[in-house]
Amino acid sequence: MNAPLTHPPGLALEALAFDNHYARLPAAFHTRLPPSPLPSPHPVVVSEDAAALIGLDVAQTMRPDFVDAFAGNALLRGSDPLAAVYGGHQFGSWSGRLGDGRAHLLGGVRTPSGTLELQLKGAGPTPYSRFADGRAVLRSSIREFLCSEAMAALGIPTTRALCVIGSSLPVQRETMETAAVVTRIAPTFVRFGSFEYFADKDDVASLRTLADHVIDDFLPHLRDAPKPFEALLADVARRTGELIAHWQAIGFMHGVMNTDNMSILGLTLDYGPFGFMEAFDAGHICNHSDTYGRYAFRAQPRIGLWNLYALADALGPLIGHPDVTRALVDDHYAPAFDAHFAQRMRARLGLATVQPGDADFIGTTLGMLQLQRIDYTLFFRALSGLPGAALRDARAVIDAPLRDLFADREACDAWLLGWRARLDREGSRDEARKPAMCAVNPRYVLRNWMAEAAIRRAREGDFGEVRAVFGCLRRPFDDQPDCARYAAPPPDWAAGMSVSCSS
Ligand code: AMP
Ligand code: MG
Repeated sequence: MNAPLTHPPGLALEALAFDNHYARLPAAFHTRLPPSPLPSPHPVVVSEDAAALIGLDVAQTMRPDFVDAFAGNALLRGSDPLAAVYGGHQFGSWSGRLGDGRAHLLGGVRTPSGTLELQLKGAGPTPYSRFADGRAVLRSSIREFLCSEAMAALGIPTTRALCVIGSSLPVQRETMETAAVVTRIAPTFVRFGSFEYFADKDDVASLRTLADHVIDDFLPHLRDAPKPFEALLADVARRTGELIAHWQAIGFMHGVMNTDNMSILGLTLDYGPFGFMEAFDAGHICNHSDTYGRYAFRAQPRIGLWNLYALADALGPLIGHPDVTRALVDDHYAPAFDAHFAQRMRARLGLATVQPGDADFIGTTLGMLQLQRIDYTLFFRALSGLPGAALRDARAVIDAPLRDLFADREACDAWLLGWRARLDREGSRDEARKPAMCAVNPRYVLRNWMAEAAIRRAREGDFGEVRAVFGCLRRPFDDQPDCARYAAPPPDWAAGMSVSCSS
């Protein structure tokens, strides 16, 4: 399954070295329970890149007991499955007890670059399921798999996805669908909401235990700081700022930035009704349950701050007065966001130096894209191929790859004049600039229509398209001749798609 011929030999399934840090936390943190079996499990797609992260030999992913293990039908030796408790602010309202309603943490696996946790999503009900079924549908599992792996290939911090296992189990959503399990990998799945849960209960001892766990296991350098808990909050603020800057620069919309979906390590976490920006519209709302646009594209940086304040308030008992905790967020979030956003946008535009007026130029560019509703990914990729200088008479031909994206060609020409003047000011050389731009401006992103087309085929038992999309998105910056269809603008049936929260 997507198996490269030259994969370094790795571990056998039974050789995974489990070391279950989270399971060793006190009982207040989790409920131990095995996954529920899944009928007629079958592999849908496997990421050999993710398998390599835990040192698993790709040949292992063909074994029937691989499928059993990651369907939740057989326990891997050394695993100690549990569901974790957490709370969270959902659409701004506090929910005191959420938790893994459909996720089983199998445990941590030792790797040369630290322990990585394996988690099954959709493997049956837990004490935190409330009235829901603990399952995930094939549709949302494929979406989570493809997007996790696509984000990783784009260089954006994210939880990873090892595989999707499908099944015949019917699951009721808006219509009847079938269940699947996606296996996720991350150093930790601790969320802002994990801290909020204990803060809400005034359980300062558990709050401290959780903060110590995060520092000692994942951010040990913070232990040397004069005030480690303050350093932790500052670090989360910085990472979150960098993450959201990366989202904005690439045009990623999470869709449900509730505090329970915010990773304490600044990873993109919990893929639901996400989307990648197509025709640029800063106000775009990718989640069709988000009536008021709380999580619209342009709101994401502001919501990141809101969520960090919620975390800051939760950490108050360990740090001090809210003025202190919120100031820590203020000191680290916006500066990290601003610096990274500017740096990434400059790179997308091919600007190698920092010059006065750059922020205005970036703003003007986004304003122009908004007015013209240009496909965000195609714009930057087409721009990457244009020369830094063009004689007036030759422009119609030379600039055609970009001009053709515009209904208003004059708007394109006017913007290009400004771009070329800016390149000229730094003595930009095409030979260096073009490859640098192609390395940051992807040819391919996971457009909703691509996921949708793959899902339609998968529902009929044909996983070829899921694997083809995955194969393409593993190398988003490389021109791949057999992926031309994925670099085209969305087909009419998919323009302006938004995705429901149901999963
Ligand atoms: P989400 O919107 O996916 O981030 O989920 C919010 C909360 O609802 C989390 O506590 C989930 O575990 C829980 N949840 C979502 N879907 C289900 C389901 N089908 N069964 C049980 N719990 C669920
Ligand atoms: Mg969630």
